[in-house]
Amino acid sequence: MAAANGEKGFEVPEVEIKYTKLFINGQFVDAASGKTFETRDPRTGEVIARIAEGDKADIDLAVKAAREAFDNGPWPRMPGCARGRILNKFADLVDSHIEELAALDTVDAGKLFMMGKLVDIPGGANLLRYYAGAADKIHGETLKMTRPLHGYTLKEPLGVVGHIVPWNYPTTMFFFKVSPALAAGCTMVVKPAEQTPLSALFYAQLAKQAGIPDGVLNVVPGFGPTAGAAMSSHMDVDKISFTGSTEVGRLVMEAAAKSNLKSVSLELGGKSPIIVFDDADLDMAVNLVNMATYTNKGEICVAGSRIYVQEGIYDAFVKKSIEVAKKSVVGDPFNPHVHQGPQVDKDQYEKVLKYIEVGKREGATLLTGGKPCGDKGYYIEPTIFTDVKEDMAIAQEEIFGPVMSLMKFKTVEEAIQKANNTRYGLAAGVVTKNIDIANTVSRSVRAGVIWINCYFAFDNDCPFGGCKMSGFGKDMGMDALDKYMHTKTVVTPLYNTPWL
Ligand code: NAD
Repeated sequence: MAAANGEKGFEVPEVEIKYTKLFINGQFVDAASGKTFETRDPRTGEVIARIAEGDKADIDLAVKAAREAFDNGPWPRMPGCARGRILNKFADLVDSHIEELAALDTVDAGKLFMMGKLVDIPGGANLLRYYAGAADKIHGETLKMTRPLHGYTLKEPLGVVGHIVPWNYPTTMFFFKVSPALAAGCTMVVKPAEQTPLSALFYAQLAKQAGIPDGVLNVVPGFGPTAGAAMSSHMDVDKISFTGSTEVGRLVMEAAAKSNLKSVSLELGGKSPIIVFDDADLDMAVNLVNMATYTNKGEICVAGSRIYVQEGIYDAFVKKSIEVAKKSVVGDPFNPHVHQGPQVDKDQYEKVLKYIEVGKREGATLLTGGKPCGDKGYYIEPTIFTDVKEDMAIAQEEIFGPVMSLMKFKTVEEAIQKANNTRYGLAAGVVTKNIDIANTVSRSVRAGVIWINCYFAFDNDCPFGGCKMSGFGKDMGMDALDKYMHTKTVVTPLYNTPWL
């Protein structure tokens, strides 16, 4: 492995952090308490900005603004095509700031700059456009009645939504949540993760510039147990759309149940299996698994973290995977030749290294990697374990780092049984040329999405979200639009007839 930390020969763009305050009712404001918290650059561990720290009082103000915008403002009432036009403008503004936004996510989350530039930021703009196109196609149904009654349904915006998001994809998570909610006509408060508040504040400013009325989209950075908890227990929030860990998802649901029984959707953790069959093309399978495990330094909810390889191809697969992992360049995420940047922060870095120690202690064989690298920042080598047993912590718990666990299987039935041996159900992959095997596996593995001979094949129209303890409710696709709407039934007598 080439550790490229500190390398020369590439340009690091000037990163200006323009927005550090809370965005409430169309204005950047200090926290009511006056408190701030620091955000650090994971490339160095150094503090790069101090951000206003939202707390219960600020969440109250933001919810009040969102409630006023919902009850009395134009956004939920304007024709869908008018909302669509504004969302398209918002998308164009995002596109015109791609480099600046990608750089913010790089210094905040350690994400590859090129990935932000080519995937995350344009992907966010395109998701806005997808829902802009849907905003004027929202309609209810005419109902078939058994009596002389006229019945129909209205699809109405659900109300004030609280979005609570994680740090691993600051831009993608922001647009997964706000795009369908805005198209539906909801108003909202976004609480970005405390590790990565920078791009969300920038997006709030672009939304205002696009013409989204004040109070519709508020952004309140802050910590989970304070700002996040205040939002999930708020009596005037109608829905929480949460993405994060299973443990915190449970707390959010409890708070919703104990307050106003608000609707909740939970996009939670995963431990996604990839099953590679003997007939797979070796190079293609190794590259697919490598990408599935190490993309975004393993900090991705659908990371392929349990790799089951059929016995006939297993030895060749292991050998080739080691070669590919060793060639992976770890280093400054602004360097276009780098494949893997730093973990998001010190906590996450230490957590991943601890899992590697647990794997060794439990008896798994460490084939490559396993160590920190670079002289500063939170870099970890791409790591591969074999001899991993089903009940080991590294096979059951979400590591959220660049750690691959390779396991062997003999039959299709055994692969399915092992793939399903988890509390999670987020994603799964299958690599085979045999259509019967692909169909059998995709219908038998319990997961929200199955990728056959591909991985991370997200698209705007593909609903995304898990089952089991990976949660419920979908982001993306028309399913996501539906979760921000409420169905109202209206019935009236026909022909002036008595209705009883
Ligand atoms: P986390 O659960 O620690 O935090 C997520 C968000 O919840 C943050 O904004 C945090 O401040 C907030 N929070 C923390 N405690 C809270 C509380 N008591 N009440 C309300 N909010 C609270 O998760 P994380 O470490 O930021 O992100 C990693 C996790 O997110 C992983 O488990 C990953 O799998 C998951 N994730 C899932 C998806 C998906 O679509 N399923 C996508 C990305 C990440």
